[in-house]
Amino acid sequence: MIYLEMSRDKVHGGGTWAFPKCLWAPVEKQGGGSWTFWTKILQVTPGDTIIHLRGVPPDAAFVGYSTATGDGFETGRRPPQPGKWDYSERFFRADLEGFTPFHEAINLDDLFQQKRIALEDYFDRNKSRGRDKANIFYVRQSGRLQCLNGAYLSDVDEDLLSVLFGSEDATVASGAGDPVVSVATGSQIRTVRARLGQKKFSDQVRRNYGNRCCFPGCSISDPRFLVGAHITRWTDNEELRGHPGNGLCLCLVHDRAFELGLFTLDEQHRVFVNPKEQESASEIARDLKAHNGEPISDGEVKPLDDALLEHWIRVDIEP
Ligand SMILES: [Zn+2]
Repeated sequence: MIYLEMSRDKVHGGGTWAFPKCLWAPVEKQGGGSWTFWTKILQVTPGDTIIHLRGVPPDAAFVGYSTATGDGFETGRRPPQPGKWDYSERFFRADLEGFTPFHEAINLDDLFQQKRIALEDYFDRNKSRGRDKANIFYVRQSGRLQCLNGAYLSDVDEDLLSVLFGSEDATVASGAGDPVVSVATGSQIRTVRARLGQKKFSDQVRRNYGNRCCFPGCSISDPRFLVGAHITRWTDNEELRGHPGNGLCLCLVHDRAFELGLFTLDEQHRVFVNPKEQESASEIARDLKAHNGEPISDGEVKPLDDALLEHWIRVDIEP
């Protein structure tokens, strides 16, 4: 998922709580009651992308993006400089890494001005979704767009991402790029979009195999040790690249072994250990060989023949 963090204060917690080390917010409003844009921190999962909007209009700007490293959680620990949230006993927090500044910060007022019609359309489209609507960071009020006060962490779906920063198709088709977003920043946005695609693929593949490593006899189901891995990384065919039949749910060890070509799957989806590992003293190879010829556990969607063929070619084995 993609979220937008809107923070206005320079300090923003201080210490290990400072921007852009984590997301944080008080658990309750002063005087009690929860607030959607704070509790949303609990929805954050590892690999989610956070886009950062910093500062106070007219200087507020989208400055870059980070990646969540863990699930959002509630804690009794507190930021060293909680500011006006000092009243709170407990806080939500989600840790971040890899802050990447945009080549050029994208000024919010410019964006509101230049994308007004598209943003109004998105606002109305979203509103009509009723209960399923996204919690977004702006409102349409008396004929103008403005930030929703207190919308600390909000949703950015693919539709809103395109409205804000331009769609990939439009950039490619016109060759002109986006009026507000520079070419260099546009390519960073494409990275964000690609990562969203990868996360969706990975989640879909894991679900297909019941969130468990599909290697025969492997019992690992701890999500922190599982990946929704690509069988092959097609670069020129987006449909097949994102097809769940091009994925296997594997634990970290079996993912690495598959990636390195220590084993592949034959046409009946049975483990085929690389003959080059026959003499190997590796304990990993020994464990793989103990399951040679056994089928992987079934997913609803089966591995695609074309994907397996690509894997055989890439790692140079022929089952
Ligand atoms: Zn495994």
